[in-house]
Amino acid sequence: VVRLSHGRKAFGDTEVLRDISLEVNSGDVLAVIGPSGGGKSTLLRCLTLLEHLDDGSLAYGDLEVARGEGGRAVYARAPELKAARERFGLVFQNFNLFPHRTVLQNVADAPQVVKGAPRGEAEARARELLAQMDLAGKEDLVPCELSGGQQQRVAIARALAMDPQVLYFDEPTSALDPELTQGVLRAIRELAARHMTMAIVTHEMAFARDVADRVVFMDGGRVVEEGPAEQVIDHPAEERTREFLASY
Ligand code: ATP
Ligand code: MG
Repeated sequence: VVRLSHGRKAFGDTEVLRDISLEVNSGDVLAVIGPSGGGKSTLLRCLTLLEHLDDGSLAYGDLEVARGEGGRAVYARAPELKAARERFGLVFQNFNLFPHRTVLQNVADAPQVVKGAPRGEAEARARELLAQMDLAGKEDLVPCELSGGQQQRVAIARALAMDPQVLYFDEPTSALDPELTQGVLRAIRELAARHMTMAIVTHEMAFARDVADRVVFMDGGRVVEEGPAEQVIDHPAEERTREFLASY
């Protein structure tokens, strides 16, 4: 679904991503773990075209969407770029819902605006996704009337409403209490059971081991270790990975 080859990114003199190559295949759940400042969010921002690559190449399917050439960003043409943007969704740490729109509108708006979906259809699908996220009955509330965990599940429903081929999560539970965290992790587990393709930056190691097929451990802008979840988390090959996991 997505392939990043030899991605590099620096902010001024700080090299944040140093030669990162990574693939997410259809139906895969990839967990990205690693210490703070290791470049995980920057990686997601490059994959979602919120940042440009200084070097390397990003492809969705067989379409090269963006590439860096010695710091210069080169993008696919506008229609292709738009098509690529419709292939992924992103769920942030802090939900980022529209505060003055209802829960239903938060989920149903984008398909109408971006894809021209008829209102009735978009709303019916939004209700379905909200029910799937265990939010039936909350449609007419505004985000501040919900708990953090409920808001995060609205954000997941909103991302799903665009029918992405891959869903990215950046520490989806790190702003939540342990109790609320469980509801969000359960929702993501259910998506995994439905074979949703996902890449999840997380500090929840037990969750990563259960849900992810593959784990990438990143430190200092590099992929230090990558492999099946049980292998990387239970039997890491690299000393650096062991050290990191020992802190959990
Ligand atoms: P955390 O686990 O704390 O979220 P992270 O792995 O997501 O960390 P990033 O947010 O990707 O790490 O940051 C990696 C490095 O890049 C950090 O040193 C950070 O200060 C730097 N950085 C990130 N964004 C910018 C920016 N817009 N301008 C300058 N430096 C940045
Ligand atoms: Mg981060």
